[in-house]
Amino acid sequence: MRVDVLTLFPEMFEGVFGTSILGKAREKGIVSLEAVNFRAYATNKHNTVDDTPYGGGGGMVLKPDPIFAAVEDLLARKQEAEQGDQEGRQPRIILMCPQGDTFTQQKAEELSREEHLIFVCGHYEGYDERIREHLVTDELSIGDYVLTGGELPAMTVIDSVVRLLPGVLGNESSAITDSFSTGLLEYPHYTRPPEFRGWKVPDILLSGHHANIEQWRRQESLRRTWERRPELLEQAELTTKEREWLRKLEQENI
Ligand code: SAH
Repeated sequence: MRVDVLTLFPEMFEGVFGTSILGKAREKGIVSLEAVNFRAYATNKHNTVDDTPYGGGGGMVLKPDPIFAAVEDLLARKQEAEQGDQEGRQPRIILMCPQGDTFTQQKAEELSREEHLIFVCGHYEGYDERIREHLVTDELSIGDYVLTGGELPAMTVIDSVVRLLPGVLGNESSAITDSFSTGLLEYPHYTRPPEFRGWKVPDILLSGHHANIEQWRRQESLRRTWERRPELLEQAELTTKEREWLRKLEQENI
């Protein structure tokens, strides 16, 4: 996978792209991660990328021309590199924006199947509307709150997408049982020591009986989801037995 980020602050990405699981994925050649300063595409004397809004009011608005030029340059260079190859898939051009679709694990899974993602990070008051209308393929928000820029949101999305790529996570941290991947929250974890300050690890986890452990984990995953995020259960794939067990749990707690 190839990931390009258009930002006014590429230095913010150095740590994140070079560290831990993202850093390793990059070293292994599973993903290429680049942050590009779109100020380099400004055409005016002072390299300005923003301007005051038409109609007045406060705040600065990102101009369309540098962002269009930066995306078009990326696409042209990609085409050049791929010459002779079969035509690659169109990249997803993702605008980070609090007004976009809310980012979810499903969205992360969808994006992890793409070949090329381009993120556009805003700053200041907002974007010229023509970027939204005529350049990007997606608008993504990481939640109902406003940050100063799209950099942290883009890092959040990139991190959760890259960890899903085959070969990125070792066996030590599998994504399959993660919260949301199964439609449920993950079960509780314990590690050594078996007793800490008088608090014991559930016996079943020390029993070595794999089938029972699996059943316990599934039940705890259901219990936790029911307690914390009951709305997720409406969409989850559950067996009849599991639905019955949940009904019992509900009755016991009324
Ligand atoms: N005036 C805008 C907010 C601008 S915040 C509005 O009311 O919609 C500045 C930039 O930060 C945005 O362009 C976007 O790139 C980024 N940003 C802020 N909050 C975000 C969020 N929740 N999700 C994704 N991007 C966000």
